[in-house]
Amino acid sequence: MVQLYQPKRHWKDIELWKDVTDEQWNDWLWQLTHTIRTLDDLKKVIQLTPEEEEGVKISTKTIPLNITPYYASLMNPGDPRCPIRMQSVPISKEIEKMKYDMEDPLAEDEDSPVPGLTHRYPDRVLFLVTNQCSMYCRYCTRRRFSGQIGMGVPKKQLDAAIQYIAQTKAVRDVLLSGGDGLLINDQILEYILKNLRAIPHVEIIRIGTRAPVVFPQRITDKLCSILRKYHPVWLNTHFNTSLELTEASKTACEKLVDAGVPVGNQAVILSGINDSAHIMKKLMHDLVAIRVRPYYVYQCDLSEGIGHFRAPISKGLEIMEALRGHITGFAVPTFVVDAPGGGGKITLQPNYILSQSPEKIVLRNFEGVITTYPEPSHYVAGQADDYFAEMTGIDGSEPSIGIHRLMKDEEMHLVPKGLNRLERRAMYEQDIGHQSLKDQREKRDLLKEKKWQAEQAKQQAQVDADEM
Ligand SMILES: *Cc1c(COP(=O)(O)O)cnc(C)c1O
Ligand code: SF4
Repeated sequence: MVQLYQPKRHWKDIELWKDVTDEQWNDWLWQLTHTIRTLDDLKKVIQLTPEEEEGVKISTKTIPLNITPYYASLMNPGDPRCPIRMQSVPISKEIEKMKYDMEDPLAEDEDSPVPGLTHRYPDRVLFLVTNQCSMYCRYCTRRRFSGQIGMGVPKKQLDAAIQYIAQTKAVRDVLLSGGDGLLINDQILEYILKNLRAIPHVEIIRIGTRAPVVFPQRITDKLCSILRKYHPVWLNTHFNTSLELTEASKTACEKLVDAGVPVGNQAVILSGINDSAHIMKKLMHDLVAIRVRPYYVYQCDLSEGIGHFRAPISKGLEIMEALRGHITGFAVPTFVVDAPGGGGKITLQPNYILSQSPEKIVLRNFEGVITTYPEPSHYVAGQADDYFAEMTGIDGSEPSIGIHRLMKDEEMHLVPKGLNRLERRAMYEQDIGHQSLKDQREKRDLLKEKKWQAEQAKQQAQVDADEM
C-alpha cells in the first residue's frame, strides 16, 4: 500500500481555520473563496522568512499570492525548505530577471490563430479556457497570463476558439488548460465540452488541471458525471512530490479514474523541491499506486523570474537514468524540454545506442550490460501497406513535415532559413565574371564529349570506307 503523506497539522489546529466545519472545508467554493491572498493571512499559517515576506510584497508585480486553505494546511510552518511552501509562497528572487529569461518563452501567443488558442502541432490545439488558478505556482511558465487581470475568459472568446476548432478539420485533440482547466464552473465546462463534442473531427478532449493536487475538493461527483457524458475525456494533473499525495488528492484522482477518465501526471523538475532521482522515483511509484500514469517530467522553462527554480538538463537525464529499467515501465515518464521560441516539446533520454554497423547495433541497458542487436538481413519495408490501404483507405501518401519528410523522400534536405552560405552562393551566381571549378568541369566535359564524337565519326568513316 502506498504510504500517503500525513500533514502534521489538522486545519482546526490553525488559528485562521479553527472554526471551519468539515462541510465547509470539503466544499470547493468555500476553498476557492477563502484562498490566502494577503501577507497577514499567510502569517497566520506559517512563520515567514524575510525573503518570503519580501516575495509576497512584490507579488503584485509578478503573479498574485493565492493559496487554497487545503494546500496551505500541508505546509510546514517552521521550515522554508518545505516543498509545498516553496511552490506556493513567493520569494524576493522572483523579481530577478536572468539573461535568457523571456515573457513568453514558448511563443504561445505567436502560434495563436485566435486569442487563447495555440495551434502548434498538426493535430491538436491548446485552448486556454481561463487565466485563473486556485493556487499560483511560483514557477508558472504562463505567468504572463495566469492570474492576470479579469475574471476568466469572456464567452465571446471561448466561442471564437470553438469556431476555429470546428473549421479546422486537422484538429482531432483539444487540450483545455489555462490557468487551470477546471477553474471554470460546471456550467461553463459543460458548455465547452458539449460544443467540442458536437464537432465530428474532435476525437479526444483533454483537461490540464492542478486541482487534484492543490484543490482536490473540485473533483466532485457532479463534475465526474459531467465528464463521463463527453468521453473520451483525458486529464493531466501536476504532482511534483510525494508530499502532495494525501488522502484527499488520492480520492480526487480515483474518482476521476472511476469515471473513466484516464489521469496522467506532468511534473516539473524544480531545484530544491524534486531535483533528485530518489524523490522522483518515489513520486512515480506513488502515482501509479493511485492509478495516475506519469506522462511528462518537464525541464523548467525560461520564463521571467523563475531562474532560481531551474536545474540543468543533465539533472533530468540523471533522473531518467535512475528510472528506466529500474521501475515499472509505465511508471516512467518522458523527459521533455519545451523548446524556447515555440519549437515545441523535445524529448530527451540518456543514450542507449553505443555504436552501429550495417549488420549490428551496439546497445547498452540500464545495468550497463553492452549487447548487440543483429539487424535483419532480409527485411523488406512496406509489406503491410497495401492491405492496410485496402482495408482503411489510409496509404500514407499525405505530405509529412520535419525529419519524417526526409525519410519519406518528399525532400532531400532541410535547410535553415537565413543560412549565410546560401546568401553568398546567390551573390556569386549573379556575378557574370564568376567562375568555379564546376564551370571549368562543364567546359572540360563538353570538350571531352566533342572529342569522343569526333573519334566515333572517324571510326565510322573507316568502317564505311572498308565496306566499300
Ligand atoms: C504541450 C502542448 C500540447 C500537447 O502536447 P502533447 O505532447 O500531445 O501532450 C499541445 N499544444 C501545445 C501548445 C503544447 O504546449
Ligand atoms: S496550475 Fe499551472 S497555470 Fe496555474 S499557476 Fe500552476 S503551473 Fe501555472
